[in-house]
Parts: sequence; structure tokens; C-alpha cells
Amino acid sequence: MNVSVNEPDLSGNEKRYLAECVDTGWISSEGPFVERLERGMAARCGRAHGVAVCNGSAALDAAVMALGLPKGSEVILPSFTIISCAAAVLRAGLVPVLADSLPDTWNMDVASVEAKITPNTRAVMAVHIYGMPVDMAALCALASARGLLVIEDAAEAIGQTCSNKACGGWGHVSCLSFYPNKHVTTGEGGMILCDDDALAERCRSLRNLCFAPPRRFVHDALGFNFRMSNLQAAVGMAQLERLDASVSKKRSTGAMYQSLLKGVRGLRLPVERTEYAENIYWVFGLVLEDGFGAEDAAVEFERRLKERGVGTRPFFWPMHEQPVFQKMGMFRGERYPVAEAIARRGFYIPSGLAMTDVQIEYCAEAVRSVAEELA
Ligand SMILES: *Cc1c(COP(=O)(O)O)cnc(C)c1O
Repeated sequence: MNVSVNEPDLSGNEKRYLAECVDTGWISSEGPFVERLERGMAARCGRAHGVAVCNGSAALDAAVMALGLPKGSEVILPSFTIISCAAAVLRAGLVPVLADSLPDTWNMDVASVEAKITPNTRAVMAVHIYGMPVDMAALCALASARGLLVIEDAAEAIGQTCSNKACGGWGHVSCLSFYPNKHVTTGEGGMILCDDDALAERCRSLRNLCFAPPRRFVHDALGFNFRMSNLQAAVGMAQLERLDASVSKKRSTGAMYQSLLKGVRGLRLPVERTEYAENIYWVFGLVLEDGFGAEDAAVEFERRLKERGVGTRPFFWPMHEQPVFQKMGMFRGERYPVAEAIARRGFYIPSGLAMTDVQIEYCAEAVRSVAEELA
């Protein structure tokens, strides 16, 4: 059997809505599905505005830039995340400052954020990791006490809640990705969410080359073409309609893995819940325990799973250990022990929305047998 790490579920109205685009000739960003998706997603997250863009990384770029923070302002973000987060901060002329993560939820440690606040700090970027959210109530309380803006990256937490409030609903500005492994996909795509009218307008302007009235093709700022097409938004609408079912499917896949893998020696399974959230299992991550196998045990574990037809992905690599940032002289001598440990010992196994129970059982059995071989 071969099980890829992610297979999306496109079995709803995707085809019908795409055909509608073709039949009506509306295929560009001017088509009606874009606004429908913006309104639908914003409503789902309890936001006033949604700005659809061409991917989640672009959403972060435009969102951070739209805040208009003074050059050189510091933005605190986790070391353990995708590069898009730190890249967006840098490209906006700001300074990324890193914080470590918690060993159980793999999310940014709010106490570690507080320790990094300086007089130059202007914002905190919270990134929900692998299906568990950052403790947003605590983070937002800290940010508001210290006068900091909150940028929320909810790419991996579409449909998730934190303290009973939607992820994507917490930040001064929040970002989503609609890549095929996310809970709502448009193939490639993303969205910025916010409540502030002027901020939304700046995001819309940055998305569309900063075209400004009164004279088209006369610009007083530089923007990007980050537009989403009507074709992408059509797929997104069909996906959004099924979001609750997708969330249930993710949770049932996670629960199956939890029960099938419980007690396998050497494996640390994802946390099932905290006091503010229940895991949505965007991915099902495994972390090899200290003392389990050699330093590169995770690499060997993934190799043996691949031999059995089970796809995997390694965990994120910490920002302070990225060659690109080291070459820029950034984060010299900084250590984030939790980020370093989980990056080296963690990987995730298949959990796409199209997975069958037979495939889940097959993958769990493969994990169990490799763990026994390597123990
Ligand atoms: C997927 C993802 C992104 C980037 O989204 P793209 O659409 O792939 O550019 C950003 N942040 C997080 C946390 C993600 O998981």
C-alpha cells in the first residue's frame, strides 16, 4: 500500500463551481467567487474583512507590510515555524526576534515571548502549529498590556478554536493559507482577515499593485500582484461549505492514531487537549523520545516508513538555524532548546482528508513496527 502524506478531498461542489467559472467566462480575480469566499471565511472567523490572496506566504507579506510599523521595529515570533513568517517580517523592513516553543504543544511559549520584549518591540506574531493553537488569551493579554500588535498565522488552524473563539479571529491582523494540505484548499491561495477598515483597504491595495484613484496606472506606492483567481475561489467555496465535516474528519483521524499508537515505546504523541483547545490534528506529529535511537533516528524512522509506502515530512527547521539567516549574521549564538529538539526528533505521518480507515490502520501499524525495529 502507498499512502501519501497528504491527499485533499475535492468530492463536494468543486467541479460544479469550477464549471460555473468556465461557463460564465469569469476566471480572473474579478469573478464573483472571490468576494463570496472573502465574506464566507471572514464570517466563519468572526471578522469584518477578508482579503483573498494568491497564497499564505503572500498573505503574511501583505499583512505585515500593511501594518506600516516603523522600519527597524522588532516583531517577536517563534523559532519553530515556516520561513514565510520571518521572511514577511524582514521584507517589511522589520527585525524578527525569536522565542522558544513549549515541548508538549510545540507552540510559542508566551513566557518566552515576554522575556524578549524590548522598547523596540511593536508586534508579536503567533503561529498555530500542527493543529494546536497558541494560548491566545494569554498572548493577547500580554500584548495589550505592553502595547503590542498581534499578527496571527492561522494557516494550520482553519476551523480550530482557542478559548472558544475562532482561530483567525484573534489577531489585529490574521492570515490563512489554502495550500492543499490545509483544511480549506484552493490549490494555492490564502487570506488576510481583520476588523479595521483602513487596514483591510491597505491590504487590498498591496494585493493589487497599489492602484489608486483617481487615475488608473498612476501609483504613489509599490504593491504586488497577489490576487486570487475566481477559479481558485470557486474551489475554496466548495471547501468552505464542508469545513465542519473536514474538521471532524481531522479529529477522527487524530483520535484513531492516538488509540492505535498509544503505548508504542519511544514515541511522543501529540497532546489531545489543553485547557484552551482540543487538537484538530492538522498533521499528526510524532517526536522520538530522548534516548530512542541515534541522533538521526528520525531520519532513519522516516526512511523505513517510506520503504513501507508511508509518506512523511520532517518537522520545521528552527529559524535561528537557517543558513539563509546565518549568512545574514542574524540570531548568532542564540539557542532555543525546545525548537532544536523537536526539529531533530519530529516528523509527521499521513493525515489527508481523503484518507480511509484502512489506510490509517496501515500507517499506524507501519509506525509501530518501525518503532519496534529501532528500539
Ligand atoms: C502553509 C503555511 C504557510 C504558508 O502558506 P503558503 O500558502 O504555502 O504560502 C504559512 N504559515 C504556516 C504556519 C503554514 O503552515
